[in-house]
Amino acid sequence: MAMKMREWRKRKRDMDQLLCYSDSEDEQRTEINSSVESGSSSVPRTPLSGDSVPGTSYGFDFDTDVACFTDSEHDDDEGEGEEEGEVISSFEDDLRQWATEHKVTHRALNGLLSILRKQGHPLPVDCRTLLATPLQNTTESKCGGYYKYYGLEKGISENLRLMDSNEVHLAVNIDGIPLFKSSGMQFWPILVKCGHFDPFIAAMFSGKSKPSPLEDFLKDFLTEYKYLKDNGIVYKGQTYTVTIDALICDAPARAYLKCIKGHASYESCERCVIQGTRVEGRMVFGDQECTPRTDDRFARVEYRNHQTGLSPLIAAGIPCVSSCVLDYMHMVCLGVVRRMLIYLTRGPKICRLSVRQKDAISKKLIGLRGRMPSEFARQPRGLHEMDRWKATEFRQFLLYTGPVVLKTVIHVHTAGVR
Ligand SMILES: [Zn+2]
Repeated sequence: MAMKMREWRKRKRDMDQLLCYSDSEDEQRTEINSSVESGSSSVPRTPLSGDSVPGTSYGFDFDTDVACFTDSEHDDDEGEGEEEGEVISSFEDDLRQWATEHKVTHRALNGLLSILRKQGHPLPVDCRTLLATPLQNTTESKCGGYYKYYGLEKGISENLRLMDSNEVHLAVNIDGIPLFKSSGMQFWPILVKCGHFDPFIAAMFSGKSKPSPLEDFLKDFLTEYKYLKDNGIVYKGQTYTVTIDALICDAPARAYLKCIKGHASYESCERCVIQGTRVEGRMVFGDQECTPRTDDRFARVEYRNHQTGLSPLIAAGIPCVSSCVLDYMHMVCLGVVRRMLIYLTRGPKICRLSVRQKDAISKKLIGLRGRMPSEFARQPRGLHEMDRWKATEFRQFLLYTGPVVLKTVIHVHTAGVR
């Protein structure tokens, strides 16, 4: 009974608080939201009561404000305010969480709110009030575009309560994403993945070209990382160590971040000291003996023909050779397999297949449509659509469908030529 009463009191307080925020005090809310930088409109938060993280300056927002209030008031009832915060969630909290979880459109949510209000529920008129959407998203002009830093510790802290180890291992991805076909506008997010949890955005840049200078773009991120690496994160009395294990980027982004030469230049190999040779307009690395590159020598900028300058990653203590993953998707799927198929379909005469053979392969691939198990993201498509194949389709061709559909067709071809 006492529990029910407490729940009712909290709901009522939430309602009152929400109503007084809803219309007249929008400006005040803007101030709160912009001063604490509590997420952006593109990244829906799923706030929970009692979600605030002690020891960080970020964990304060509208919801936690209410939760703190609840806890402190009930401290004299029972000394278990912290547990209650997790058990009780208000009607708005549930509604908000449901709306973000199922990606309900603002239009639909407004409609639902209007129905609920008619039925006597004191709910806000607009869904943006319910979702606590920040009214302003403060960005700064930097590196030739707009930039916003969301924070590394903030993102990590959200996962800490689910973590079972004291070591936080991070994987970082930095890459450009074109936004429109008709303009050069692009996003450059710094994405961080913490263990097996969903990635979060640590920083975001948008501009007409890649962020330059690189040092400025990475400054906030690397400064915070260096601090966390040296001091760790203290959460609920425990100290967590933080390290960046892997930098997952495609070759041009890696070259940009590591300050090395592009992947088509003579000493472009990121793993070993080897000089390539140019054969028919292509860079070829023979299989001669070569010494592996080391993090220490890279940090001292000793690879003069490979490095173009001092990468800001070095100062932050990120090992530039061992932590940079050479990714399978670009190298194997979109590299070798795609190149091989381009040779087979429209390459030089010596290896190009006849129209009949290409049709036969396409027919077999299309024949497999609907027969691939649900574990595959895509069903096979014909070779004539190859320019639109995704990396996963090339992988599927390499590992599963390729050997089956090429078996008889390619045999006929080689027999015919030789
Ligand atoms: Zn190599």
